[in-house]
Amino acid sequence: MKRDTPLSSIKQANPNQKIFHQAVEEVYDHVKTVLDQQPEYRRYKIFERMAEPERIISFRVNWMNESGEVEINRGYRVQMNSALGPFKGGLRFHPQVNLDVLKFLAFEQTFKNALTGLPLGAGKGGANFSTKNRSENDVMHFCQNFMSELQRHIGRRVDIPAGDIGVSRREIGYLFGTYKKLKNEFSGVLTGKGINWGGSMIRQEATGFGLIFFVEYMLDQINETFDGKRCLVSGAGNVAQHAIEKIIDLGGIPLTASDTSGYVYIPEGFKPEHLEAMMKVKNEDRGSLNEFAEQFPEVEFHTDKSGSESNSIWDIEADFAFPCATQNELNEKDAQNMLNNGIRLIAEGANMPLTANALKLVLDSDILYAPGKATNAGGVATSGLEMSQNQMGYYWTREEVGYQLQHIMKNIHDECLQSAQKYDLGKNYLAGANIAGFIKVADSMIAEGVV
Ligand code: NDP
Repeated sequence: MKRDTPLSSIKQANPNQKIFHQAVEEVYDHVKTVLDQQPEYRRYKIFERMAEPERIISFRVNWMNESGEVEINRGYRVQMNSALGPFKGGLRFHPQVNLDVLKFLAFEQTFKNALTGLPLGAGKGGANFSTKNRSENDVMHFCQNFMSELQRHIGRRVDIPAGDIGVSRREIGYLFGTYKKLKNEFSGVLTGKGINWGGSMIRQEATGFGLIFFVEYMLDQINETFDGKRCLVSGAGNVAQHAIEKIIDLGGIPLTASDTSGYVYIPEGFKPEHLEAMMKVKNEDRGSLNEFAEQFPEVEFHTDKSGSESNSIWDIEADFAFPCATQNELNEKDAQNMLNNGIRLIAEGANMPLTANALKLVLDSDILYAPGKATNAGGVATSGLEMSQNQMGYYWTREEVGYQLQHIMKNIHDECLQSAQKYDLGKNYLAGANIAGFIKVADSMIAEGVV
């Protein structure tokens, strides 16, 4: 009789959650070697327990929009793993939010948060709500109604959400204000707050900056730098914007950005004035990239057809690629295009942006590859620094936070490499990240008993 593996039993227990399966399988591929070497991990069913959220909260969000119409959305919080600290992870507001997506994100968060070296458990949440084409009032009312339920389940020592897709500083403000009013307490229960109301310096920039710091350390290993390197970036939100900013700072040439309407290509590369104009369109006007392209004759706008024969952001010749939009945005055909075009490095700003087939192609090639759970950990790490500052009631300068962020990214980089090398996996950053994160959480779970 065929014996169940941890992976097969997890898949059976979570039917039809394909994105979650993809994330679990990718980690299992690497940690099974560790499970074989450490029978305790198998005996205590650590991997299976890591894939089972400690708690899932699902709730109704009723609210009345500006036209007086009642709307019903579904809110969630997946409290995944608290072995290392209180649950911590972002909130996503997007029409495609469901339990499959949130469980994948919360699972990834477990390893990412462990890699930061900070006392952070893992969680993720959100709602099937889109802030697009909504008035300020609608966004505020939705956030208030969402938090009126979520507040029962979170707290500064229990679960500390932050932003993610669709949840920027504006939404964090409305969520924080509602929590404060309902609890009569000004506390660090959310991160990503504004600087004047409990936020940390560099939290906004941290994910994109951290990604590029991580890549600087990768390049150090092969005696290279960003100088003159042509870089493809996808996404045009928080992560992409600050990745572009840091690439420019380091002498690299960011060529592209993308959103749901298409992508922009600047053959000579983004200059600070392009970035400033794009940020205004995306963050203030809440518009589309074609509105940015219309302002500069040198900016080409294309509708994106990723995976098709032509006209995809990933068809463009460049040195490095940074997918910073969303999960599974880059498929096998895109990966093949990148191989054909001589891309030498892929580092993920988004969570799991490569499909399983694209990832396989990249891992079997000579491309240097670094996974989001390591490279985008600067965001949650700086959220951890925000939590520390909230507890102290004392705030560090931009330089101090910047220094700590760089230090954390260096540690994550080195830890991934060392873990990969320890298991004879060379420069496989993905294997290193999975194994290093797994061992930290696994050992803590064993120490805390079967609870
Ligand atoms: P934002 O909402 O700020 O930006 C997301 C961007 O990606 C938007 O420009 C959006 O376009 C675009 N986009 C989304 N889906 C698609 C798609 N299917 N095709 C093309 N473009 C798309 O999100 P963030 O920048 O915060 O997050 C991006 C990624 O980084 C996510 O995977 C997130 O989980 C991850 N991440 C974010 C962190 C953070 O601190 N913010 C931390 C760690 C990871 P449009 O504007 O048209 O909607």
